[in-house]
Amino acid sequence: MNAACLFCRIVAKQIPAAIVYEDDKVLAFNDINPQAPVHILVIPKAHVAGVDALEDYAILPDIFRVIKQLAAEQKIDKTGYRAVVNQGRDSGQAVPHLHFHLLGGRLLHWPPG
Ligand code: 5GP
Ligand code: ZN
Repeated sequence: MNAACLFCRIVAKQIPAAIVYEDDKVLAFNDINPQAPVHILVIPKAHVAGVDALEDYAILPDIFRVIKQLAAEQKIDKTGYRAVVNQGRDSGQAVPHLHFHLLGGRLLHWPPG
């Protein structure tokens, strides 16, 4: 828990979020500013600043299991979806706690720009 970190504070339930999945290691909640009909953030509960700071790679299968499960629940598994991570300045990463964006429910353009 990093008390200065927004997503750690969501994990700690100090800041409300629309939680759609939770277990002991992973939390998923709706993005506050959705860029698609489905826009969910999937995060490890343990604080990791981003991909570049990731050392516990064992969290990744859990994250992808949740992404697949949520895609099925949200009924975007057949139409398709995007799971992306921003890392660092040039990506526009705004929150320095590792998070996967799960986006779907509309045609997603590529490249994202
Ligand atoms: P990044 O640009 O760091 O990859 O994405 C951060 C995401 O977090 C953005 O899509 C933004 O809308 C979302 N976000 C920022 N603050 C909050 C918040 O307080 N609650 C929720 N649910 N999402 C947030
Ligand atoms: Zn954090």
